Amino acid sequence: MKQKETLLSTMGINISRTSFEDLGEEHVGTSLETPLREDAFEMDDDLKVELIEKHFREIMHIMGLDLSDDSLKGTPHRVAKMYVKEVFSGLNPKNKPATKLFENKYKYNQMLVEKDITFYSHCEHHFVPIYGRAHVAYISTGEVIGLSKINRIVQYYSKRPQVQERLTMQIGNELKEAVGTEDVAVIMDAYHMCVSSRGVNDTNSSTVTSFFSGKFESDEQSRNEFLKYISLKK
Ligand SMILES: [Zn+2]
Repeated sequence: MKQKETLLSTMGINISRTSFEDLGEEHVGTSLETPLREDAFEMDDDLKVELIEKHFREIMHIMGLDLSDDSLKGTPHRVAKMYVKEVFSGLNPKNKPATKLFENKYKYNQMLVEKDITFYSHCEHHFVPIYGRAHVAYISTGEVIGLSKINRIVQYYSKRPQVQERLTMQIGNELKEAVGTEDVAVIMDAYHMCVSSRGVNDTNSSTVTSFFSGKFESDEQSRNEFLKYISLKK
């Protein structure tokens, strides 16, 4: 171990492995923004798929897998395509859903709740799935957005390597902007595969995170109304 670290540091790579691992196991997020480099999208998607495929083949090779086997042959390409075009497509701002507001005077000052939005994301510390339900609400200022747009906002931010707290806040902030109000609430209840399938192997616990802004933060009645709606059985 010591030797490896010396080797890395002669290559100009300084790592403190203990601190990385502590951070990952505790699932601590460090910022509200997804940490992306300035040049994140200089490469196009096809080139990204090609490069990830090459490196993923290498990972499988190092693990000792026989890549000439028919079942494994296509895996590096499938994984690369899935990363770039599907499960991490929300990294790229070009995939951000466009939202349009509709005037609806009847909904003025009314709470709109969309609950049980299924989402799939990935833990940025282990690259394994986080999945669960999101419940979202806002108090209309007389304008509303299409319900499917709320789902799309949830999906967009989910399709990134994430920590659940950041995901919750990113959805809340985006919604504030999209509907033009401070009065927004988001609750996410999720299972983390990195907790259930490895590590402490706890299969039952779920993690709940919340974002309350505007009236949902300052007014207990609004918050309770939202909590009451999401606990209603269908
Ligand atoms: Zn994890």
